[in-house]
Amino acid sequence: MAKLIFASKNEGKVREFREFLTPLGIEVVSLNELDNVPAIIEDGTTFQENATIKAETIAHAFGVPVVAEDAGLMVDALNGAPGVYSARYAGDHDDAANNAKLLHELESTPDIDRTASFHAVIVAIKPDGKRLVAAGKVDGRILREARGEGGFGYDPLFYYEPFDKTLAELTPAEKNEISHRGAALREFMTEFKNWWED
Ligand code: IMP
Repeated sequence: MAKLIFASKNEGKVREFREFLTPLGIEVVSLNELDNVPAIIEDGTTFQENATIKAETIAHAFGVPVVAEDAGLMVDALNGAPGVYSARYAGDHDDAANNAKLLHELESTPDIDRTASFHAVIVAIKPDGKRLVAAGKVDGRILREARGEGGFGYDPLFYYEPFDKTLAELTPAEKNEISHRGAALREFMTEFKNWWED
């Protein structure tokens, strides 16, 4: 079976990619299953740069096709913050601390100016350097208090007007339909076969 590394330790994301790629006869391996994984220095200033850094580092180390993803929240009133620092805005992958900091930073921002967007970029690289880049985004607004139990990260604060709900109030299927990650993944899959077989 042809092998592809998904450059993440997040088993939820790995599973998502596996669902799409296993039917194509591709074995998706996560970083949890590999030894001697090099350190990945995510010092890019955009989601695409960071996804590319992850994909290039792992492709260079293992010499097989690699897919990487980077995502985050951009708040207009904060000039795009937390952006590439979304996971470590207040504490490293501490969702509660990150959400508390976001509310604090926006305390004096009126509702109308609390617009924000989630972004996701997927970068795939083959050992010969051939690349595939796909991106997705979803627009919303940052509420003044959390709503909903689902999702993760900033979902309980991110209000999605067309559904009159936060992303944390959506089912996983509903979120996938409208989310940045869902959009990026759909674009990725429409171009994947060409890239893979090229
Ligand atoms: P990652 O690159 O997908 O792990 O995302 C980095 C950070 O961005 C996460 O730790 C979250 O704080 C935030 N983030 C990315 N996607 C989402 C989402 O779908 N909902 C809520 N937060 C997200």
